[in-house]
Amino acid sequence: MKKTFFTVGPSQLYPTVSKHLQIALKSQILSISHRGGQFEEIFSQASNLLKQLLKIPSDYSIFFVSSGTEAMEKTIENVVEKESFHLVNGSFSKRLFDMALQLKKKATKLEVNLGEGFDFENITIPKTAELITLTHNETSTGVVLPVKQIADIKKAHPEKLLALDIVSSAPYAKIDFRFADIVFFSVQKGFGLPSGLGVIIVNPDALDKAERLEKKGINIGTYHSFPILKKSADKNQTPETPSVLHIYLLSQVLTDMLKIGIKTIRKQTDQKAKLLYSFLDNHPRWRAFVKDKKFRSKTTIVADLRKEQKMVKEILAKKGLIVGSGYGQYKDTHLRIANFPSHSLKDMKKLINNLEEL
Ligand SMILES: *Cc1c(COP(=O)(O)O)cnc(C)c1O
Repeated sequence: MKKTFFTVGPSQLYPTVSKHLQIALKSQILSISHRGGQFEEIFSQASNLLKQLLKIPSDYSIFFVSSGTEAMEKTIENVVEKESFHLVNGSFSKRLFDMALQLKKKATKLEVNLGEGFDFENITIPKTAELITLTHNETSTGVVLPVKQIADIKKAHPEKLLALDIVSSAPYAKIDFRFADIVFFSVQKGFGLPSGLGVIIVNPDALDKAERLEKKGINIGTYHSFPILKKSADKNQTPETPSVLHIYLLSQVLTDMLKIGIKTIRKQTDQKAKLLYSFLDNHPRWRAFVKDKKFRSKTTIVADLRKEQKMVKEILAKKGLIVGSGYGQYKDTHLRIANFPSHSLKDMKKLINNLEEL
């Protein structure tokens, strides 16, 4: 039976991936040199199309790394000399905070209960913090942070750098890049690609900071430090032998998404999310985990099913509908359902119809 993966990553592949994979094999691009013109063309296309789709300013640089997790580490390493500040509301935002401690930075956090967002009017950020990090879409709990309020934080603290994790909300997230210095994601979520590629988007201020730290003798890492990534990216290359296949597939899926248009993708995402939340809000026993509607993620919908979770997951799986378990303490009570561009309206309706029958 053919399965549909509503898991939050890896997830359902974007429908055109299979075709692009076959073309990649046939055209023999998997054997080309990563120092040659043909690869540079693929790199440049992926980078330029991403800028078009997400409306990234032209002076921002695009770096390819191995994962979202690597992007987190590079962020801390490259722009924090001493102190960072983190908004923590789940496992992924916490990972960034933990990494800063592991990298021997003075990291402080504002932490709220799982399933909640932040009271943005009342956030106190230490004067000495050099970097603020936020997780736009907390995949562990299904909480999304309003993009306007993220921009307001940067406006209130223009002297600090702001890093934003959009791993599970890209490309849906409508980020105003003027108010974000470092933004990162990986491709196995909203882009519907196989796992193994991370993307870091960096502005000149973040690059300057990395260069200043390096001059001061601070360790900013080796082959994936921002200045080295930048030097390579300027030649449409990567410091190491990269996953050419991933960068190629990304450029092709970006082409497909640009044809559909980001507005349409966002509208379709909203429409599918509305159906699922409305089902949950009207259900006699189950509910959406995130109560406050303004913090409800459109791309990761978390349902609290309590004792019925295991049974529901199994019945859905028998029908080829694969949904995610809860994260951490909610492993056996929550369902996490991805709503990415790879999931058609028909897929989502099929999932809801099957849930309705239970
Ligand atoms: C999945 C995820 C990550 C980790 O990305 P990897 O590519 O798995 O390393 C980081 N942040 C968020 C919000 C995620 O959902």
